[in-house]
Amino acid sequence: MTLSIVRKNSTHHEPRKTGVQPTFLIIHFTESRDAADPDGYFMATRQRSDGARVSAHYLIDIDGAITQYVDEQNRAWHAGLSEWGGVSDINTHSIGIELVNGGPTYGYTDFADAQIDALIALSKDILTRHNIPAHHVLAHSDIAPGRKIDPDYKFPWRTLAAAGVGSWPQPVQADFNEAAMLLRDEAKLKQALVTYGYNPGLDLPVLVKEFQRHFQPEAFTAQPSYAGRANDETALRLSALLRQKLAMTP
Ligand SMILES: [Zn+2]
Repeated sequence: MTLSIVRKNSTHHEPRKTGVQPTFLIIHFTESRDAADPDGYFMATRQRSDGARVSAHYLIDIDGAITQYVDEQNRAWHAGLSEWGGVSDINTHSIGIELVNGGPTYGYTDFADAQIDALIALSKDILTRHNIPAHHVLAHSDIAPGRKIDPDYKFPWRTLAAAGVGSWPQPVQADFNEAAMLLRDEAKLKQALVTYGYNPGLDLPVLVKEFQRHFQPEAFTAQPSYAGRANDETALRLSALLRQKLAMTP
């Protein structure tokens, strides 16, 4: 797939700190009916009700059309108060992509294939150029647990990982023992989530819920939902992801 990108210049950016290169890719949804609202906010032709000035490096419309608003070398304003792996100020360290989607406010629809295909092509290009590791492809909800939910549980992380974008757990035998140990001890379970990258300052159920939003979406769609409560599969996937991350970290 050849990348076709329309360029617009948002004034909502600033230089990254000297010498800082992006090491995270953050995925968002716009929670808007269409691309006009986020475009307006990024281009400062519309005011957000909370007065916040925002931007992202890229916006991908439902039909897959990609618009770039901020140079990758610059710091865009998409993450807000956030933290991962002890790194706060994720804006300084990341590239942000917004996907047009109604979210809960405007009927949370499935992400369209054309939009996901465009996201995969763009992300692969970004990850390669900046050498960003799979475990640093994250949701806004991962870096701002309890404050943000996007792109939420319908986002097809498994499909992305299969295409080479981001991580998806692939448990092996050793993970089953590790998972059983994690489930028996809440302190160890929380420590494992924190070791993976989640903010240590938040309570375990909040972190479990955000982990599930990314890596166990069936916790949200099951009847009844068990989002926020870890089960065997939660612990198994967490164990697998930790092992996969460790294998990639020199
Ligand atoms: Zn967001």
